[in-house]
Parts: sequence; C-alpha cells; structure tokens
Amino acid sequence: DASGKKAPEKPKIDESKLMEPRAPIVVIMGHVDHGKTTLMDHIRSAHVVDGEAGGITQHIGAYQVTCRDHKITFLDTPGHAAFTKMRQRGTSVTDIAILVVAADDGFMPQTDEALKIAQKANVPVIVAINKMDAKGANIDRVKQQMQQRNIAPEDWGGETLCTPISALKGQNVDALLELVLLQAEMLDLKANPKGAPEGIVVESQIETGLGPTATVIVQRGTLHRGDSLVCNNRFCRVRMLIDDHGKPMKDARPGTPVRVTGWDEAPEAGATFLGAKNEREAKTIALENDFKARQENLQQSAAPKVMDIDNLMAAIETNKQKVLRVLIKGDVHGSVEALEGCLLDIKSDKVTLEVIDRSVGAISPNDIQMASAAQATIVAFNVKLENGVASLAKHHNVQILAHNIIYELITLVRDAMAELLDPELKENKLGAAEVRQVFELSKAIVAGCMVTEGRITRDGHARVLRKGKAVYEGRIGTLKRFKDDVSEVRAGFECGARVDGFDDYEAGDVLECFEILKIRAQL
Ligand code: GDP
Repeated sequence: DASGKKAPEKPKIDESKLMEPRAPIVVIMGHVDHGKTTLMDHIRSAHVVDGEAGGITQHIGAYQVTCRDHKITFLDTPGHAAFTKMRQRGTSVTDIAILVVAADDGFMPQTDEALKIAQKANVPVIVAINKMDAKGANIDRVKQQMQQRNIAPEDWGGETLCTPISALKGQNVDALLELVLLQAEMLDLKANPKGAPEGIVVESQIETGLGPTATVIVQRGTLHRGDSLVCNNRFCRVRMLIDDHGKPMKDARPGTPVRVTGWDEAPEAGATFLGAKNEREAKTIALENDFKARQENLQQSAAPKVMDIDNLMAAIETNKQKVLRVLIKGDVHGSVEALEGCLLDIKSDKVTLEVIDRSVGAISPNDIQMASAAQATIVAFNVKLENGVASLAKHHNVQILAHNIIYELITLVRDAMAELLDPELKENKLGAAEVRQVFELSKAIVAGCMVTEGRITRDGHARVLRKGKAVYEGRIGTLKRFKDDVSEVRAGFECGARVDGFDDYEAGDVLECFEILKIRAQL
C-alpha cells in the first residue's frame, strides 16, 4: 500500500459470493444547539438492541440500535471532529450522515460545513428537520435552503431523503430511522464476514482494570476473542470483546461496534486495524510499522547528542543500575535514527539502554575500538562488517548484534539486556520424606526415612521440618538404599538420608527436597 505500512498477507479470493448485508454506519451532524445530542439520546434509549432493554448504555464511541429487525450503528463521537479525522487519514467508516437542521433556525454555518464534509467523503445525507414543535418552526424554509444547496428533498423533485422530527418529544424519530434503512438499502451495504477481521478504530482510551481499550467497527471479516490484531504501530491479542452495554461478546461481525481489550498501548482513533496470524506476527508488523514511521518522521535538526567517553566512564562508575551501552550502525541515516528510537523505547525498570554513538555504514575497526573502550555492544541494522572486523571484535570481546529484520534485531537487544540481569532463583519442590529412625552409619548420623511424596534426589537441597517449622536447610550429602549410594529414591521406598551439616534428626521430622532453578530475569 502507498504508505509503505506492512499489513498481514491476505489471500486473494473472489469475495462476491461471500458478501452478506451489514448494518449501516451512521453519524449525526449539524449546527450547535440544533438537537444532535437530544436526537442521539432519544434513539439510544428508545431503540436498544432486542433483549438489551434496561441494560446500562456505556459511552464507547459507537452503539447499535434495532429498527424493524434491522441493525443500525451510530457513531456518537462528539461533533464531526472524529468524522473529519478519519477522512484525513483517507479512511471512511461512515455510510450515511444525518444532518440535523433546527426548523426554527434553518441552515447555519456549521450545517453547511457538515454538509460539505459529507459530500466530500461521498456520504449521502439525510436531513432531519428538527424542533418541529418549537415556535417559529418553518419546514418550507429549510426545504428551500436544501434546494438552494442542490440537495432538494424528494417531495420537491430532488433525491435527498428528509423528514420533520422533534427530537425532544421523540416525534417522527422512527420515520427518520426508516429513512436510514431505506438509504442503506439503496447503498446495498455488504461485507464478507468470513476471514480475518479488518476495521477502524473509533475511539481509544486507557481504562483502569482493562488497560488500553479501543472501540472499533468491524468492516470485513469477523473479530473473535483471541484474535491477533495490528493497528499501525500497536498490536493486540484480543482478550475481551465488550458491546455498548458493557456485556461480553464472543465475536463481532461487519458493521458491529465493539470495545476491544488486550492492546499493548492504545491505538489511534481513525486508524485501520487488521487481523494477523498470531501475536508474534502482529508484534513484528507493529514494530516494523513503528520503525518505518520513525524513518519517515525524522527531523534532521534534532540529532541527539553523543556522550563523550569521559562522561560515559564517570557515568559507569556512579551508576549502579544495569546498563546496556550500545553503538548503533545502520545502512542509511533514516534507519539509524529510527533504530535508536525503537531501542530507547524498550521498556524496563531494571536495565537502561544507553546509546554512546551512532553512524551510517559498515562496521569498521574504529567502531570496535570505540565499543571496546566504552564496554558497549554494537547494534547493527542491515550493514556488513569491514574486513577483519569479526576477529577484531572477538579479540576485544565486543558483542555485535546484527540483523536486517528490525524485529529480530530488537529481540536480540532485548535478550542482551535481560542477560545483564542476575537470574532469578526459584525453588521447585521435588518431594518429601518422613524420618522414622535415626542411626549412625560410618561415623555419620543418618536419618532413616520413608519417602512419602515425589522423590528425594542426591543432588537436591533439603529443608528439615519439625512440626511444620523449618529447622535447617542444606544440600543433601548422603542418600542410600540399604548400603548403596543412589541418585534418587521415589515415593513408597525407604532410604537413608543426610543433609550436610545437620545431625539432630528426630523421628517425625520431614525432609522436604527441592531443586533451585535459575530463571532468566525478565526486563
Ligand atoms: P446539539 O448541540 O446539536 O447537540 O443540541 P442539543 O441536543 O444539546 O439541543 C440543544 C437544545 O435544543 C436543548 O435545549 C434541547 O432541549 C433543545 N432541543 C433539541 N431538540 C429539540 C426539539 O425537537 N424541540 C425543541 N423544542 N427543543 C429541542
């Protein structure tokens, strides 16, 4: 696609046979105080989806109502700001615009502006002549104004659907919804509900307890729980789908607004999301999109300052926190800067990343010298090594992380950062034995035990428990079956065991055997 943004591969199939009707997506526009909010509130409260009556409506940026068994999706993003935003991005989610015009006021500047936006986006307009109950309501004047703007109403020989209403009293709102359905029918709105989901983010926010969430409208395919999504530089493993009443959904078909949780960070309103094969693919594409976007948005002027070696050494001395120092190399200026942005974005409370230098071109002996002096790692995107550099790096013990796939490179850097951390130690219980009697064996005190669960191993650790309380902890020094040394004894067997450095066993003690696992720390 023109933006160069990566999207997951889509199989090419003839979709025409798979198309099914979908709900129209409608936006309400018009001049301030002409009754947009009143109309929206009335529609929402009077036409909730079947079976949802009484449910608490939640403001999620979009909602669905039912009229004569047909669903209609409304965007309730305030004003037409959202609409314009989406247009700017070249994406349009809206099928129909309801233009609210107060009958006692007529067309006003914002009415005209809204009309222009809708026309520019090729979105048909239905005019709701509102406040028919108000004093000074003049339906003919509004129709005349419509005619002047080349959107003459049907009963005046034009093609624009139009109806008088009172949003306040709820009069004729049903007729307005019927017009929406009629317009939708004329538009023949269809989508293929099969296959990977695709749609638009209407609104996004961070919510306590839910994390980053986005209200999206599915445009094709079906969105399921567990799906992996990409939206520009954000990705999502769909944890929950929530409808406009706060109820969980299993899936969302085309035309359906739904709140999605499971994003790494909130995606931008107006952006398109796409299904990916799995979370890893989603993550990869998001990162590559991030990298590309950074390359495109480079500001030449704002070159970050390079730390000089003296300052750096001082920083190393004082800074007790783990630091991965890197020297960045890239094929072109743009990729160097973008890579730096991606690296500095790696989030960790435990390890910081410090860029000591950056440059374009193959990795040179000079780079190795500098990296060696600063105890830095070279991170290289899409560049080669000059002759002899590999052996020089080995000689100076300089680590080079190089790749021409940005996701792989970032993963290498993350791993290198994690490697700096001390491994976390985790205890894994192997089994337990009960001391039955205590005896002396070749001048050592040994506990005669019955293994009651799991296994006791010769190279394991053990804790001596007396009445449930630990009285000693150490390595198992001796493990015998009869007179023979063995490496392990399983539940149901007797053994002679001894924990190094402990002699005071009592019948009834429990030896709890465990191993200590070293787990690589997380960033
Ligand atoms: P918005 O700015 O377009 O969202 O307009 P609001 O929905 O906030 O309405 C502005 C004012 O017009 C409020 O005081 C409403 O009560 C009033 N209003 C809205 N619809 C009607 C209507 O059908 N009849 C009358 N008489 N007043 C209305």
